Amino acid sequence: MTTIPFIDLQTQKKRMGANIEAAIQRVLAHGGYIMGPEVFELETKLSEFSGAKHSISCSNGTDALTMVLMAKGIKAGDAVFVPSFTFAATAEVVVLRCATPVFVDVLPDTFNMDPRSLEQAICVAKQLGLNPSAVIPVDIFGQPADYDAIEDICAKNQLWLLSDAAQSFGATYKGRKVGTIGLATSTSFFPAKPLGCYGDGGAVFTDDDELARILRSIRVHGQGSEDKYENVRIGINGRLDTIQAAILIEKLKIFPSELAQRDQVAERYHAALKDIVQVQSVMENTSSTWAQYAFLLEEASQRADVLDRLKTVKIPTAIYYPKPLHKQIAYSQYPTASKGSLPISENLSARIMSIPMHPYLDTQLQSQIVNAVYMALNESVLA
Ligand SMILES: *Cc1c(COP(=O)(O)O)cnc(C)c1O
Repeated sequence: MTTIPFIDLQTQKKRMGANIEAAIQRVLAHGGYIMGPEVFELETKLSEFSGAKHSISCSNGTDALTMVLMAKGIKAGDAVFVPSFTFAATAEVVVLRCATPVFVDVLPDTFNMDPRSLEQAICVAKQLGLNPSAVIPVDIFGQPADYDAIEDICAKNQLWLLSDAAQSFGATYKGRKVGTIGLATSTSFFPAKPLGCYGDGGAVFTDDDELARILRSIRVHGQGSEDKYENVRIGINGRLDTIQAAILIEKLKIFPSELAQRDQVAERYHAALKDIVQVQSVMENTSSTWAQYAFLLEEASQRADVLDRLKTVKIPTAIYYPKPLHKQIAYSQYPTASKGSLPISENLSARIMSIPMHPYLDTQLQSQIVNAVYMALNESVLA
């Protein structure tokens, strides 16, 4: 029996034939490894794809978030609202700006930021004497957060919105494309993300001309627009490698078809699993990139049991995320929307698990995975 990959990059590589090698060879031939022509070609193509006026490629999804916080001058005393049920980078960048992340709970069905908890978090920040500044909703597992509701709250409280779309580039929210929502959107091209390169990469999207200009400067050590040896602000080394841009140009060509395949795979999982476990529900008129296929079990002990049983039959699994950020040592001193506990984030972390998800999961392999989940659940119930 061959091992089942959790994410299958090999089949994707085969599908693209010699295109990737040829793209890399072109970069080796022209030698423009840093900010070569492919970087700008990719940015144009990302804008065409997403509809964002400006696409600013960068070194990774974490720096994409950082660059926006730097451009907006986020500083000590500012409160930035982030979900607790996310990857650490979403909150880490806030702390690195010396600002305070305030943790918001998520919804039990979509696993995305709960607008009501956001309102509570804003009150908490004010009580603490912090300056409510920005919200960073995360499109968890590829599904956009409830932006209509969050944007209303932002407008009422004069907050700006940065969408952490590290997992959701290619998704849509009620007719709007990811990349065009909020003041700015960040994404990641980490290899395991739906659109991944062969190393680290990321991008920021915005329709704001002035913000785009500042982001381009911050990306290269705060350089001036006239003279690159002039430093007009503090920046970072945040460039995307030309080789990674060349790889992404090739991968972007098949990305629309991969997104359709991801949808099919998710639909098949959904049909098979929705009555036996609680699957992530998708909002109406909204699409997901299905960066993960995640569902909830009854409780932590059942999950441990199911994970064990799947391991013995060699079905790869993962837990995103085993601990909400407000419970992590590094983040436990930061405020939360409700005193001491964010019940939904904690509950999800105890019960959630993910199974293999990628565009090349054929029906046969998928049946094998689904059958194994059925068996594991049955045995777990009987045990
Ligand atoms: C992957 C990820 C990031 C960070 O992206 P990197 O490219 O790894 O820096 C940020 N936020 C979320 C929600 C992610 O999943």
